[in-house]
Amino acid sequence: MFVIDPDTCTACDSCMDACPCDAISIVDGVHTIDPDLCVDCGACMDVCEFGSIFEVDEADIIPKKDV
Ligand code: SF4
Ligand code: SF4
Repeated sequence: MFVIDPDTCTACDSCMDACPCDAISIVDGVHTIDPDLCVDCGACMDVCEFGSIFEVDEADIIPKKDV
């Protein structure tokens, strides 16, 4: 899945324009990718001039349940 780093994002909106799924929206002033709409095409990452979008392993950001 893809995520946006809010610390480097300049809110230029290029990724929103590039996303074919309207998966990127502004939530509480921060550009955010909705993982339910995102199809992992990578178009947003390609257009981001600031390197603010990157692909992460879902398992790395979803906390594992305690056993
Ligand atoms: S293209 Fe990059 S810098 Fe521009 S709004 Fe999207 S994530 Fe932020
Ligand atoms: S990877 Fe593709 S579908 Fe997902 S947010 Fe980026 S442009 Fe949209």
